[in-house]
Amino acid sequence: MILEAKSLSTAQASTPTQLPAGLSPSSPGPVIPSQVNGHSSGPDAHGGKALREDLQEFLGQEAPLHLLDDLTKVNPVTLETEFAKSTFASVLRCLQARYMADTFYTNAGCTLVALNPFKPVPQLYSPDLMKEYHAAPQPQKLKPHIFTVGEQTYRNVKSLIEPVNQSIVVSGESGAGKTWTSRCLMKFYAVVAASPTSWESHKIAERIEQRILNSNPVMEAFGNACTLRNNNSSRFGKFIQLQMNRAHQMTGAAVQTYLLEKTRVACQASSERNFHIFYQAYTSLGFPRTPSSATCPPPTDLQRSQCRREAPWHLPEGAAFSWLPNPERTLEEDCFEVTREAMLHLGIDTPTQNNIFKVLAGLLHLGNVRFADCEDEAQPCQLMDDAKGLFAYQQGFLRSFGLCRTSASLLWLPEDPLLETLRIRTIRAGRQQQVFRKPCSLAECDTRRDCLAKLIYARLFDWLVSVINSSIYAAPDSWTTFIGLLDVYGFESFPDNSLEQLCINYANEKLQQHFVAHYLRAQQEEYALEGLEWSFVNYQDNQTCLDLIEGSPISICSLLKRVTECRLNRPSSAAQLQTRIESALAGSPCLGHDKLSREPSFIVVHYAGPVRYHTAGLVEKNKDPVPPELTRLLQQSQDPLLKVLFPTDPEEKSQEEPSGKSRTPVLTVVSRFKASLEQLLQVLHSTTPHYIRCIKPNSKGQAQTFLREEVLSQLEACGLVETIHISAAGFPIRVSHRNFVERYALLRRLRPRTAPGPQSPPLNEGRSVCHFPFTFLPPLFLLSMVCSALSLAHVPWALAD
Ligand code: ADP
Ligand code: MG
Repeated sequence: MILEAKSLSTAQASTPTQLPAGLSPSSPGPVIPSQVNGHSSGPDAHGGKALREDLQEFLGQEAPLHLLDDLTKVNPVTLETEFAKSTFASVLRCLQARYMADTFYTNAGCTLVALNPFKPVPQLYSPDLMKEYHAAPQPQKLKPHIFTVGEQTYRNVKSLIEPVNQSIVVSGESGAGKTWTSRCLMKFYAVVAASPTSWESHKIAERIEQRILNSNPVMEAFGNACTLRNNNSSRFGKFIQLQMNRAHQMTGAAVQTYLLEKTRVACQASSERNFHIFYQAYTSLGFPRTPSSATCPPPTDLQRSQCRREAPWHLPEGAAFSWLPNPERTLEEDCFEVTREAMLHLGIDTPTQNNIFKVLAGLLHLGNVRFADCEDEAQPCQLMDDAKGLFAYQQGFLRSFGLCRTSASLLWLPEDPLLETLRIRTIRAGRQQQVFRKPCSLAECDTRRDCLAKLIYARLFDWLVSVINSSIYAAPDSWTTFIGLLDVYGFESFPDNSLEQLCINYANEKLQQHFVAHYLRAQQEEYALEGLEWSFVNYQDNQTCLDLIEGSPISICSLLKRVTECRLNRPSSAAQLQTRIESALAGSPCLGHDKLSREPSFIVVHYAGPVRYHTAGLVEKNKDPVPPELTRLLQQSQDPLLKVLFPTDPEEKSQEEPSGKSRTPVLTVVSRFKASLEQLLQVLHSTTPHYIRCIKPNSKGQAQTFLREEVLSQLEACGLVETIHISAAGFPIRVSHRNFVERYALLRRLRPRTAPGPQSPPLNEGRSVCHFPFTFLPPLFLLSMVCSALSLAHVPWALAD
């Protein structure tokens, strides 16, 4: 019997497709924690006794003692009290078992969990496999895959009865595989939604599909960077709508981006890099070490010298640029030719491309400009090389004066006004709006230099997105439905959290609420269909947290806006903001305070856990001030691209200096973000959503390494733990009637009066599935174990009826 018991547990351990609550391989199945435990270590003192009693009660007094002993030994899982814990442990074990067996996708309710393989698995994304999922009569019966989700959404938009727009929300932390997944889905639609009709229309469709796919390398070159967590980290959020015509072919797409991390242009954390495009341009022109791969061979010397002749961007080989850190760490992504080719396909011709790279080179030179403090406060700061050799230059650095000149010439700006704007502030004050000129401090000069670069880069990025859109957007009458792909930053919690994290986590709260509402609705609809009475009494959503962040009349957003509007640039605003938040929102259960923190801060208890936000710099970041002189300066540029990015529109009102008496309402970062988020949610609400949760099995990017602690925190952050809670509040265990009868019919022979059997059909006969509440798990588990044990052991009396 012990042998059989062992074989039972080994058989269960080696079946990674048997899943715990909420997780299912392809269709929902019974929830039996020991099925994914993988081993049995014997009963513990309490659980074993309780289990034995339960078994005895269940089997009746006549049950042979040795059977009770053996069953107790092989079923050590403590029931009832420890069940919630063991569910998460089971989820982890299950995901781990599947991951180690190279099974990277798992269904979890209405979401798909995608584990990052961290190794190439080309067979998983081949066009043949795409076609297989596309052709399958019931793709959900195939192994879980992003193509199942892709195909389901595609079938929904194709529905003849009621085609509804679809959206796929891909979430997860940095490096988890969101962008990879979105890219694969775009390729999937490019294959399955291609037009096979005539040669001509096929060519058109191919062109548009190719263009849509080409938007990826361009946006990634300009918007992605190498960070500590991901070599190809997207530093912006993206929502792309793939537009379908009546024949369900992709006719175009529209891209919307969110929160580009523009500070990266001028400030990169140590061991991180600037946006890829800077390295791509530099590598192709000067830096000798380039990655070699099939898609991206290193440029030959001839190509380089030709490139330099055609594009004199003053990027000398071996020169060090402070905004180009870690250039020696070349990546697959440093492939200039791929970017240029893609830009060409999108209609950005070679002269325009050269213009873009010339401007970027101008920014690199600007980044090397250094200022020196001047003792006389009435005088502007000097440039470093004016300071008579006070500073030792790093080898290869050009002198600041020369740098400023080079930068001005690359940006086609007049040199003296550039120098003046960087070092002197103009303030309009008084009734007459008189203009005062005030030399900037050293720190202010640096800030203005960085601000100029950020301003140019952000506008350039927005312009690129608009060019991409105009190249791929289909005429309004040529499409009827769309599939939206959302690839946004996941929930973030660092030791130091600021405005960026507040915005990201706010967006994640909104998306979580959207998900919960959808999931609850979907469950309710299913239960109603099955005729089950049920209410989510146990369940509370995250509205309280959202009220704290965005509610009216008072919330963190509204207070931040008020402080930003009236306390611009005052160092005291950090402490004041904390005090105002604490006093005005003290009643919120989602607001916390870290008494040990020396820095002014506040804590928000998000659905994924508490996060402490530092208030220092929050107001300044929210204001994101652009000195109007900088915009005016850029409007003087003769460069054709900068002329487009900074048009001299007399109507355009730039933000005034803080000390000015301007009444122009301040458009803060948070208010802009909130507006775009609301717009996004409106679109999402009008679609049928699907969710893919990407999980990073370890932070080192190693294949075949599954770190449970790290995965668990991501399961919390992506709301999967919440999904299990919701699921547990309802009927998480679903067994088809046929399976139920087949599996438990045995018990009828054992206990003819109580157990269901084939001759006496169970309740709910008309329904396809038996639903059990969470509390039903222990008895069901017992039932299951008894049946398994009996059927494996072939106990003679069990067969005797
Ligand atoms: P995110 O967008 O979530 O930050 P990415 O999509 O950029 O993360 O993925 C990070 C890296 O992980 C990718 O560059 C790739 O190397 C690897 N990766 C992600 N998903 C897969 C996958 N399905 N197969 C192979 N490698 C993957
Ligand atoms: Mg990404």
